[in-house]
Amino acid sequence: MRKLLALLAVVPLVALPAACDASAKDDGRTSVVASFYSFAWVAEQVGGSYVSVQNLTSPGTEPHDLELKPKQVAAVQDADVVLYEKHFQAAVDEAVDQAGRSGKDTIDADAVLDVLPVQEGAEDEEGHDHGAEDPHTWLDPTNMIAIAQAVSTRLAAVDPPHANAYRANADDLVARLTTLDEKLTAGLSTCERRTIVTSHSAFQYLAHRYDLTQVPIAGLDPTNEPSPSQLGDITRLVRSEGITTIFTEELVSPAIADTIAQETGATAATLDPIEGLSDDTAGESYLTLMNKNLATLQKANDCS
Ligand SMILES: [Zn+2]
Repeated sequence: MRKLLALLAVVPLVALPAACDASAKDDGRTSVVASFYSFAWVAEQVGGSYVSVQNLTSPGTEPHDLELKPKQVAAVQDADVVLYEKHFQAAVDEAVDQAGRSGKDTIDADAVLDVLPVQEGAEDEEGHDHGAEDPHTWLDPTNMIAIAQAVSTRLAAVDPPHANAYRANADDLVARLTTLDEKLTAGLSTCERRTIVTSHSAFQYLAHRYDLTQVPIAGLDPTNEPSPSQLGDITRLVRSEGITTIFTEELVSPAIADTIAQETGATAATLDPIEGLSDDTAGESYLTLMNKNLATLQKANDCS
């Protein structure tokens, strides 16, 4: 008996190092590397239990100026599928280029979607190289539908035995995203005001899809601060249009938005660009956050 117990005690000790060393690639599942939260979410929904998804942007981190650790660069090299968007995170663009990955196992959302040029007035003054494109495609749910379908196609190609499951998962996700899109269309069709003042220029795709006008406080990159004259313009606009709400976000300091709100008597509220989850939103998903964004927009702009 004693001998058996000793044996039982030893077995896990022997098995443990192997389990710890096993990379995502070795556990039998298809490995997907996604560059930030919203894309990782799509990959998880479509891949289900047959994939392991690694998100390059850790929770609570602002993704624009992401820097990759050597281990993450290696993951970009080794993953069965990589999902990213060119011109959003320079470090990821560089890692994908260096890895010399093929189009067969790499999804660049920039190549899948109709990308909009940077909104006028939202260009970064400090010369950050984003290309001339606005990367915030995922805030239009119809773009997420196209990404879901691209992920399904690629996963089916690299892991044919589970192709049917990927297609079924993608169909289910497309249905949920279609419902979300219909809700946003209906919910934002009758608003008293259609202008939204946002923390950084993340909501052009949402504005474009649902006929809103975005006035961003910062440019494409949330770390770029506006000039005093830009601030003056925004403050005047808030007063003249009777804007009730200045939108802030989870991963960026609300200081400037709060200042504008105080000066104009508007209130500050969170509109989430869903670039990453924070401690406050750890239990949320792309879908729940978009539904919250809808409710926030409806309240701010008196949409009944
Ligand atoms: Zn952004």
